Amino acid sequence: MMGEIDLKAAQDAWTQAEFARIMTVDSQEAAHLAERQHELEASLIAAAKTLGRSAGDGRAAHRWWEQERPPRRPLRIAIVGGGVGGLAMGARLREAGYDDFVILEKSDDIGGTWHHNNYPGVACDVASYFYSFTFFKNPGWSQMFAPGSEIKRYLSELADHYRLREHIRFGATVTSCHYDNGVWTISTAEGETFEANIFIPATGFLHIPILPAIEGRDRFAGEIFHSSAWRPDFDSSGKRVGIIGNGSSSVQIVSNIVDRVDHLTVFQRTAQWVFPAPNDYYSELRQQMLSYYPELTHRLFQFFMDWYNDGFGNAVTGDAAAQKRFADACQANLDSIADPELRAKLTPDYPVMCKRLIFSSTYFDALQRSNCALETRSIARIEPSGVRLHDGSLVELDVLVLATGFDTHAYCRSLNISAAGGQTLNQAWQDGARSFESIGLAGFPNLFFIGGPYSTVGNLSTMTCAELQVDHVIRLLDEMDRTGAREVMPHRDAEDAFVDEMQGAVANTVWVSGCKSWYLDAKGGIDIWTKSPAAFMDRMVTGPDLAKYHFKA
Ligand code: NAP
Repeated sequence: MMGEIDLKAAQDAWTQAEFARIMTVDSQEAAHLAERQHELEASLIAAAKTLGRSAGDGRAAHRWWEQERPPRRPLRIAIVGGGVGGLAMGARLREAGYDDFVILEKSDDIGGTWHHNNYPGVACDVASYFYSFTFFKNPGWSQMFAPGSEIKRYLSELADHYRLREHIRFGATVTSCHYDNGVWTISTAEGETFEANIFIPATGFLHIPILPAIEGRDRFAGEIFHSSAWRPDFDSSGKRVGIIGNGSSSVQIVSNIVDRVDHLTVFQRTAQWVFPAPNDYYSELRQQMLSYYPELTHRLFQFFMDWYNDGFGNAVTGDAAAQKRFADACQANLDSIADPELRAKLTPDYPVMCKRLIFSSTYFDALQRSNCALETRSIARIEPSGVRLHDGSLVELDVLVLATGFDTHAYCRSLNISAAGGQTLNQAWQDGARSFESIGLAGFPNLFFIGGPYSTVGNLSTMTCAELQVDHVIRLLDEMDRTGAREVMPHRDAEDAFVDEMQGAVANTVWVSGCKSWYLDAKGGIDIWTKSPAAFMDRMVTGPDLAKYHFKA
């Protein structure tokens, strides 16, 4: 029988082998470490059974229905969006004892971006153990970077665990939201009206597709659609496919379909840096072992969080040494391309991470297949039979995929939000989207953003950002609950100081080092978090600073 001390030693040995395996570039060493891990997994499972551990999966501590939850004064809460942010909000409201909430979701299912994006190869390029909520651990991730369908399943399990579905109104497209005297009145295109004291837009920022303004787009005779509108049943096999754009969505699609299409043309306007990221499969033995030891899943979360925060997060906000490590890895990846002409086409003319970094170990391979062409000549127009280039040549196509990104600065503008006195959110944001510490907005009482302006932290885990924000909002609600306040909103001078703080840090970021990206708005402004991830976490965890909020009875 494996005693307590041996158990700890085996856990430590397993995690050390795991971290060493992730960091090594020596495939023989990696194989040796993996073998050692398999042995430890078998021993740890045997030990768990002997010790009578149940294959609980880290969710046991969050059985909110078994816990004594504080009684709350009546406070009705309306959340817009059933994606990562809205579901996290619902889950934590449950745990905190705020049961009077509704989630308004325009589509027919939960998941947000993971429901809408069904293109082949859709996956998360943030490590799965980190792309998870700490209060809803998942020992069962099947890969280092989980496929979209698996993430949707995880969110679905979350919705079931917290009995969120009974609070969700599907098919509710919010068209206007007005605040007056402690009450938000929310109307939908379907003709319903909801009233709530607290209004939480959790609509995210990757949900409004950008269709490129290329002449002739409507005249294409084949299938043409945005990457986010790829029908699950659409099969590109044997077709001549063109794809405009080479961002994260395109890279995943290209890698996935190149083997099945007749021919693939990637229309690239600007070259991208690509960080190599092999997508390891996780064995069933490993998943089973982790299901007995939620503490190990947490160690994995912590490892990846440190990697993304200290390595990646600092690299984008001015740490030159950290940035060099990424630059070297991306350069080595680029240097692996044999054909000098292709390599030249794929070489960016701006620093690594200026645009959102691409993570892929399969994209460059795909581009080097004989049935794939990288087209860097500019597009003149779209014609019925294909794409006409400025030099007059025609690329004939059956299918044209527009992987041309999203209007990332729209946020929740389409909800037509207005406050007493008539000020609209669109007026408040006419010089750019803003918020106080990513959560509130001066002039708009009882409104809390999840995933709004200043909440995106580089390539970090959206789930972690949402979790931090959600808990921050709950502390504001607790203060309302404790004091009996009917209204809360940030002081305008606090918001101005915060926006100045964020804008003052922009110059340190790599995002303004000489490229165009979705981080910048139409005027070149930035409305994402511009300091380190650690600073965001600290602000979310230690706050809210109640002195910066105005509470009204
Ligand atoms: P994106 O990164 O904004 O890329 C859009 C692409 O379309 C760019 O290559 C852009 O070229 C090109 N483009 C746009 N308009 C064009 C035009 N008129 N003519 C020619 N090319 C045009 O969009 P995305 O790939 O959908 O990714 C958006 C974000 O979604 C990502 O950055 C990421 O945050 C998220 N995402 C995440 C994952 C994940 O695994 N976690 C996967 C997919 C997406 P230019 O570079 O020249 O502008």
